[in-house]
Amino acid sequence: MLIVGGGIAGLTHAIAARRAGFDVEVVEVRPDWAVAGWGLSLTGPALRALRAVDLEDVCLAAGYPIFRTLNCDAAGTVHNVMELPSVLGPGRPAEAGMGRPVLHEILRARAAELGATLRTGLSVQAVETNADQISVRLDDGTTRTTDYLLGADGVRSRTREQLGLTGEPRYTGQMVWRALVDRPEWATDIHTFGGPTFTAGLIPISADKGYVFLTEGLDDPEPLAGDLLADRMRELLAPFSGRLAEVRDTITEPGQVVRRPVHALFVDGPWHAGRGVLAGDAAHSPSPQLVSGAALAIEDAVVLAGEMAAADDVEKALLAYGARRHDRARALVETSVALGRAEREGRRDELHALQRKGHAGMAAPI
Ligand SMILES: Cc1cc2nc3c(=O)[nH]c(=O)nc-3n(C[C@H](O)[C@H](O)[C@H](O)COP(=O)(O)OP(=O)(O)OC[C@H]3O[C@@H](n4cnc5c(N)ncnc54)[C@H](O)[C@@H]3O)c2cc1C
Repeated sequence: MLIVGGGIAGLTHAIAARRAGFDVEVVEVRPDWAVAGWGLSLTGPALRALRAVDLEDVCLAAGYPIFRTLNCDAAGTVHNVMELPSVLGPGRPAEAGMGRPVLHEILRARAAELGATLRTGLSVQAVETNADQISVRLDDGTTRTTDYLLGADGVRSRTREQLGLTGEPRYTGQMVWRALVDRPEWATDIHTFGGPTFTAGLIPISADKGYVFLTEGLDDPEPLAGDLLADRMRELLAPFSGRLAEVRDTITEPGQVVRRPVHALFVDGPWHAGRGVLAGDAAHSPSPQLVSGAALAIEDAVVLAGEMAAADDVEKALLAYGARRHDRARALVETSVALGRAEREGRRDELHALQRKGHAGMAAPI
């Protein structure tokens, strides 16, 4: 089988499919495996799905285990300590903070170790699918004919178009900011800081590092020159004092900062056409407020491999995969978008109920 996109969904599926005995080739358009060095929260449901490919403990050991969230005001005074429930079992962390490059390297190395062929600087030019096989022409002029093709090429998926599946990413009116910082000694839990117009926070990702996050409401998501990123992020954090101010002043290098417009997407129809199928952000991209993107991508990857291994024909497996994933992903994308909207419109009284709904949805078994 061929996987387009060597991100979280594509590499996890490569691992799961190799474990099930499939021949696997991954084509990744970037020239190498380097990914932007920002942090990621690997939630309990994401780690639970990684358990299916024996990577839960590897990821926990490489990240920073998290058990609690401390909710603070803009001055850094702690108002509420929330013990986070864990879907991983008693005494296990609720989630792990982790450098995105660390997670990608774990997945890439395991896929390679299991014998997946991994190619970079390569993409798909054309796809032709029929009932029995799918043929793919790659950028380098070579072709592949295979049992199935997985489009795991992110929210702007070209595979989605090539398969004739519909779905248009929509800008949600929010910009996500992340800054990689040295972890202050006090940052052993998630900290959130409620400011006058938005909430910012800090998540530890290793003994040395953490990341600051904030979401900015912005009508026009125009790009910002790289050399202005650190100054602008400090400006946005200006209303905060105390603990967050101490960290804010260390955000000085443009390379520390990532700024991305939030595009939400749900492919509300079949996720497959012939023998081509979508997974991860290519099929559903939630708004980041629920922190569910990586979990959904990993779940897709392992569920699809399980159905492929169990079914005696590919069409049955693709239908079973869609049936298990569609409604769950739709509900979570909708809740995440509602959360983002409530946050943007300042309807703070609705946030807790939406968060509870989203977390309960994510915690439900897959
Ligand atoms: C700023 C930000 C912060 C986030 N933080 C979190 C978080 O803390 N926790 C969480 O769970 N989720 C988070 N998310 C969401 C999460 O990152 C995504 O849901 C997740 O990465 C989806 O994985 P994916 O493999 O489907 O897509 P991607 O990670 O986008 O990977 C797609 C891959 O396909 C490759 N590709 C693209 N086009 C082609 C092509 N034509 N041919 C070949 N390859 C191609 C890309 O280069 C990439 O490697 C965040 C998202 C953003 C933007």
